[in-house]
Amino acid sequence: MRSDAIKTATNRKTKLTTKHHVSFTELYKANVFDDFAMRDFLSKEAYESVSNSINHGKTINRKMAEHVAAGMKRWALSKGATHYTHWFQPLTGSTAEKHDSFWEPKDGKAVEKFSAGALVQQEPDASSLPNGGLRNTFEARGYTAWDPSSPAFIHENTTGKTLCIPTIFVSYNGEALDYKAPLLKSINLVNKATTDICKFFLKKVTACSASLGIEQEYFLVDEALFNARPDLVMCGRTLVGHAPAKGQQMDDHYFGSIPDRVFNYMYEVEIEAAKLGIPLKTRHNEVAPGQYECAPMFEEVNLAIDHNQLLMDLMDDLAHKHHFRVLFHEKPFAGINGSGKHNNWSLITNTGVNLLSPGTDPNSNLLFLTIFINTIKALHDNADIIRASIASASNDHRLGANEAPPAIISAFIGSQLTEVLNAFLEDETASDNDRKSINIDKIPEIMRDNTDRNRTSPFAFTGNKFELRAVGSSTNSAQPMTALNSAVANQLIAFKKQVDQGIADGGDQKKVIVAELKKVLVSSQNILFEGNNYSDEWAKEAKKRGLSNVKNTPEALKAYISKQAKETFVDNGIFTKEELHARYEIMLEDYIKKIQIEGRVLGELVYSHILPPAIDYLTRLANNVKSIQEAGLKSGTAQAELIAELSTHIDAAKKKTDAMVAARKKANSMNTAEEQAFSYCHDIKESFEDIRYHVDKLEHIVDDQLWQLPKYRELLFIR
Ligand code: ADP
Ligand code: MG
Repeated sequence: MRSDAIKTATNRKTKLTTKHHVSFTELYKANVFDDFAMRDFLSKEAYESVSNSINHGKTINRKMAEHVAAGMKRWALSKGATHYTHWFQPLTGSTAEKHDSFWEPKDGKAVEKFSAGALVQQEPDASSLPNGGLRNTFEARGYTAWDPSSPAFIHENTTGKTLCIPTIFVSYNGEALDYKAPLLKSINLVNKATTDICKFFLKKVTACSASLGIEQEYFLVDEALFNARPDLVMCGRTLVGHAPAKGQQMDDHYFGSIPDRVFNYMYEVEIEAAKLGIPLKTRHNEVAPGQYECAPMFEEVNLAIDHNQLLMDLMDDLAHKHHFRVLFHEKPFAGINGSGKHNNWSLITNTGVNLLSPGTDPNSNLLFLTIFINTIKALHDNADIIRASIASASNDHRLGANEAPPAIISAFIGSQLTEVLNAFLEDETASDNDRKSINIDKIPEIMRDNTDRNRTSPFAFTGNKFELRAVGSSTNSAQPMTALNSAVANQLIAFKKQVDQGIADGGDQKKVIVAELKKVLVSSQNILFEGNNYSDEWAKEAKKRGLSNVKNTPEALKAYISKQAKETFVDNGIFTKEELHARYEIMLEDYIKKIQIEGRVLGELVYSHILPPAIDYLTRLANNVKSIQEAGLKSGTAQAELIAELSTHIDAAKKKTDAMVAARKKANSMNTAEEQAFSYCHDIKESFEDIRYHVDKLEHIVDDQLWQLPKYRELLFIR
C-alpha cells in the first residue's frame, strides 16, 4: 500500500486548470442572489421588504415572501439550478443540506414550483443530528428557517446545480440546534449595545455592526498517501509517525514559493469562492511543510462565518478533484505546527467608523478607548467562556500543549497602547485643577507594524481590530464569535448603565465616562500580557495573577454551565439555561466520541499495521542469527541488539495498547458524559503518547521496505 501510494503520488502530473485567464471581477458573486440579482428578479416591493429585513430586522410578510420565492426561483432556474435546499450548520461542525427538486408532476406534465413555504421554513428529518436532549424522540422535529441576512447562493457540482438558502435550525419549541441561531442573537445584541454607546459621541450613528475576517490555515496531503493512512482517513490526524529528519526547523516553507500543484488547487478554490461572493484576498505557505493559509477580506460577522463554512466545503471538494486531501484538523502531525483560524474582529458604525481604530481627535479617541477598554474587560470577565467556546478534542493539541497560543487567555495590546493606558490611569492621581487634558488627546496613530509583533498571544490587538488566534482551524467560528459578541455586549450594557447613572447624578458626560473607564481598566488590567505567551514564566505569572489555565476540553466546557455563562448568555437572551446545558452535553459527547474513535484506530493500527512488520523483521533477524550459527560462523552483536530492541518495543506497544483498550471499555461503562469525558481525557488520551513512543521507535528501526504506513517525510514533502 505504502509503496504504491508513493509511486502514485510521485508520478502525478501537475494538473493545470483549464480556466487560465479568468476575470475575477466578472466571476464575483455570479452564483449569489445578491442585491443586484434581487433588483433584477424581484418587484420593487419585494426587494424593499428583503432590504428592510436585512438592514432593519423587519419581518417579511407571507405575501412578500411569496414574491421573493418566485423571484428567487426564476433567478435560480436562469442559472441552471434544478434543486433547492435549506443550508444550515448543525452542531456536528459541518454544514447540512437536504435537496428537493423544483419540478414536480402536475396533470401528467412537470412544472417547476417553489413557494414561500419552501423558502421560509422546512422540516428536515433531522432526528439524528446532535440535540443534547432538547428533542425527545416523540417530538423529534427540527425546523430550518430562512436567514435573509445571508444571501442565497448556488452550489455547483460537476453535473448539477442547487439553490442553497442559508437558514437557522431550531427545535419544535424554538430551541437552537445550530450555530447560527445564537450567533444572530449575539450580533443583534452587540450591534445595539455598541450603537447605544456611540450615541454619547457620534449623534449620526444609528446602527453598528461587528466585522470579522477569518484567516484559515490548512494542510494538503496527496490523496494516495492519505488513503494509506487509516488514522488520517478516520481521525484527520496522524496518531503515530516518527519525526522526519527535517521538519520546519529550516523555516524554508513559510512564505516560500507555492508548489505548482498546490497553486493550481488554490487558484481553482479562488475561482469558485469568487462566484460564491467569498472575497479571498491572501494565499501563502505557512510555517510547517505542507501547510498553507488563505484569508478573505473581512465582512459582517454572520456573512463571514457562512463564507468560511462554505469555503471549507469548497476546499474539501476541490481537494478531491486535485487528488489532494485538505486537513483542517488542528494538529495533523506531531512535532510541527498545527493549524488555527485567526478571527479578526472589530465593530464598525453605519457611518463607516471602525471603532477599534484610534482616532485623530480627543472625542473619537475617547470613543475608541471606550470600546477598547470595555472589550478588554469583557475578555477578562469571560476568559473561561471564550476558552470553552474554542475547546475541542482537536484544539487541545494546540492550546495548553506547548503550541500557539496557550490555554491561558490574555490580551496583547502593544507598547504604544500600554503607554496610552498607563498615562490614562495615572491622570487619576492629578487633582481636578491640575488635570489639563486627559491624556487621550495624544494617542498617536497606531501603525499596524507596531502592534502585530507578538504572535504568541491568544487575543492580540492589531492596530484596528482584535485578533482571536486561539480558534481551532476546524472550528465553526460562530461559537467563539457568539461568545465574544455576547461578552462585549454584556460589558457595554453594564458600562452604559454606570455612565447613565453618573450623568443622572449630575456628572459631566465626558468626566463620567473617563472615570468609569478607569475603573473598568483597573479591574481588568491583569489580563494584559505583552511577553512571550509560550514561556514557563508566563504560566507561573498568570497563576499568580489568578488567570485560568485550562488545559483540556472537559474542564474548559464547565464554563458553559457557570455563573458567568448565566450572566453573559442567559440574562441577555442568547441561550436559555436548557440550551446551554444541551450544548454542554453535545460538546462533551463530541469530545468523547472523537477520543473513542482515535483509541479504536490506534488499537487497530498497532495490532494490524505496526506489529506485523515489526515481527516480520524480528523473525528475519532471528533466522539470520540461526543460519549464521548453523553455518558454524560467529555472528556480530548488531542482530542481537536489534532483536532486543525490537522485542522491547513490540512488547511495550502491545501491552500498552491492551491496557488502553481495557481503559476504554471501563470508560464506556461510566454513567455520565462528564465522567466519561474526564476518563477519556486522563486515562485514555494520555496513554496515546506512551503507545506512540514505542511505535515510533519501531518505525525507526524496522526495515523501510516492510513498513506499511506512509512516513512523515512522505506525507509532508511529496506533492
Ligand atoms: P495580518 O496578516 O497582519 O493579521 P491582514 O491585513 O492580513 O493582517 O488581515 C487579516 C484579516 O483581518 C483579513 O481578513 C482582514 O480583512 C481582516 N481585517 C482587517 N481589518 C478588519 C476589521 N476592521 N475588522 C475585522 N477584520 C479586519
Ligand atoms: Mg493575522
